[in-house]
Order: sequence, then structure tokens, then C-alpha cells
Amino acid sequence: MNIGSNILEIRKYIPTHVKLVAVSKTKPVSDLEEAYQAGQRIFGENKALEMRDKHEIMPNNIEWHFIGHLQTNKIKYIISFVSLIHSIDSFKLLKEVNKEALKHNRCVDCLLQFHIATEESKFGLDMQETHELLQSEEFSKLNNIRIVGVMGMATYTENQELIRKEFRQLKQYFIETKEKHFINDHSFCEISMGMSGDYKIAIEEGSTLVRIGSSIFGERNYVNVVS
Ligand SMILES: *Cc1c(COP(=O)(O)O)cnc(C)c1O
Repeated sequence: MNIGSNILEIRKYIPTHVKLVAVSKTKPVSDLEEAYQAGQRIFGENKALEMRDKHEIMPNNIEWHFIGHLQTNKIKYIISFVSLIHSIDSFKLLKEVNKEALKHNRCVDCLLQFHIATEESKFGLDMQETHELLQSEEFSKLNNIRIVGVMGMATYTENQELIRKEFRQLKQYFIETKEKHFINDHSFCEISMGMSGDYKIAIEEGSTLVRIGSSIFGERNYVNVVS
């Protein structure tokens, strides 16, 4: 497993308008350093404390993306440096992110996570909740967050057609949200979809951010990981 060459191989496949998020969750800093040596500058993590610790050790010119379910009491650990939160799955979370960002005098970019998989377990909003959120007066007062797009996770399955259908659904959600709420807002432009097993389909269906872990860093071992 050579992390640098994995990254170069994947980059060959990714068009220039699509950004690669290297998902380094559970992996040691030495692995992130190898990716960094290969030119990787965007890293994705799904645990707040783990991301904070890695951020403290790694160079400063990295974009840290938070991609997991974010508990409101953990926002404070990442809010001073996080570049993009992919996983806004409730209005409550968005309001808390805004509150913490205000304390740091920042405006933090966020994606709305939609529920697109058939699995119950995946977090996310539906279209109606999203419209209600974006139309509310409360939302219009959140000056320390900026919604820049959508995110979703497809069902974990071998069924390529199901995956494609779910990514198409997310693209539709993106278009509908853009038309109704962000029509003149050019910063609303991101669709975060695609992981190691399905990023090629995701790119065909319009992804602008692929989140790739195991194809870069190898399989994850969840034993001994601090949460
Ligand atoms: C772990 C994770 C990924 C990366 O998964 P791989 O299959 O290892 O590429 C992408 N997105 C999210 C939200 C994740 O939690």
C-alpha cells in the first residue's frame, strides 16, 4: 500500500472541477504526512477530537473537512479552523455551528446532508425539511454560516444502478434547492458525493467533491480508535 501512488492514480481519474477529499479517519498522522507529501491538501475526518489533534500536528496549509455526524457539544473543538462541514443534518446543528462560529468571528461553509440511501441509519434531511429551514426567518439571521451545497451517502451495496439512482436524486435535490433558495448565489455550487466504492459513478452524476478513504489509505481498523 503506497499512499502517494494511490493518490496519484485516483487523481488521474478525477476531472479538474472535482476536488478530492482524502478521508483519513482512524489513520495515524504519518499516513496523512505521506498524503501531504504527494500534494494532498484536503483531508476529511469524522470525529471532532481526532480532527483537532491532527490539525495541531499537521502543516497549516490544509483544508480540514468534517464529514461525519457532528454532535453539538463537539463543535467547539473544530470551529476555529474547519474549512467545510459536509454533514449538516438538522436545523439545530446549523444554529449551533453559527453560534460557535460567531464566537470566533468566522463565517463557516456548510453543506446540507440529504438522506438518499435506503438504509435507515444514514443521517440526513429531506426536501421538505430543507425548504422549511431555508425559508425560515431564523435561518435568514444566521450570519456566521454559509450554505455552499449538498452532501449525501448512497446505500452500501453492489447494486450500481441503485447507487446511480441515489446520486441522481441528490443532484435533483441540489437543483431544486438552488432554484428555490440560491438562484443568484454562485457560492452554492457543491455536490459532495462518492466514496472509494462509488466515486466514478458519483462523478458521472455530477459530484464536485469526492470523499475517498480506503482506496488511498487502505482498509480501516476500528479497534483502538478513540472517539
Ligand atoms: C468513511 C467515510 C468516507 C470514505 O469511505 P471509503 O469507503 O473508505 O472511501 C466518505 N464519506 C463519509 C461520510 C465517511 O464517513
